[in-house]
Amino acid sequence: MREPAKKLAIVTGASRGIGRAVCAELARCGYFCIINYRSDQAGAAETLRRVEAEGPGGEIMQFDVADADATQSAVERIIERHASIDVLVNNAGITADELFVLMSRKNWHAVIDTSLHGFYNITRPIIEKMVVEKKGAVVSIASVSAFMPNRGQANYAAAKAGLIGASRALATEVARLGVRVNVVAPGLIETDMIRNLPLPNIKSLIPMARVGRADEVAKVVRFLCSEDASYITGQVVTVNGGMC
Ligand code: NDP
Repeated sequence: MREPAKKLAIVTGASRGIGRAVCAELARCGYFCIINYRSDQAGAAETLRRVEAEGPGGEIMQFDVADADATQSAVERIIERHASIDVLVNNAGITADELFVLMSRKNWHAVIDTSLHGFYNITRPIIEKMVVEKKGAVVSIASVSAFMPNRGQANYAAAKAGLIGASRALATEVARLGVRVNVVAPGLIETDMIRNLPLPNIKSLIPMARVGRADEVAKVVRFLCSEDASYITGQVVTVNGGMC
């Protein structure tokens, strides 16, 4: 049975880090949040607690965005239960660094399957609904690595550059149908993803001389999802402390 209309946001990879911060930020603006995760159930439950404390609530949905069938059936369940979808944040992403000359197929595919194929798997069926409703915003989280790739990150740089290209192409297709598609490209953000990096060395490369916080990314995502960004589509907004 369909629930009464309310602003609905789906955030992939929301069991911690940037995804959790995005959920909290959107909840504060009145969105009911679908909190997706792949393996960290306790982390997703903590995100739900924060969302419930900040706004109208949310629900947890476990699926692997790299799994096309699982993602398709998750989207079908969301559409059955909710009247409409206002926002999709493609945040799920992983790293599996290895020098290209040594890179295993497993590491190449794992990263691209999550960030790039994951974008396709969830965005395609949701865009189909958004264009029928003639409203919606999609924001995908790329990375500074799309522009300034690091050694050992050919898979990650390819996935994130591909995500930007796909988003910009999609933006041109749906702009006249009332749907906006944008990308946020963070620099180094203090989450589990960067916990093994040599931060003191890295900070010296950042003009602001510090890494960013997840909430600093989440606020930009929230802006791009909002009516305040009503004439912005097909753009990449960098949030990186001044790295050029
Ligand atoms: P974290 O490692 O802290 O969190 C990653 C999240 O993605 C987790 O919730 C994880 O869920 C989820 N996830 C991973 N794979 C899948 C999958 N196949 N299906 C569904 N969920 C999945 O990372 P961050 O918060 O730092 O990163 C979030 C996004 O921001 C990523 O796309 C990352 O590439 C990007 N980014 C991060 C930067 C940084 O410095 N932190 C810099 C630039 C970009 P679970 O644990 O349940 O598997």
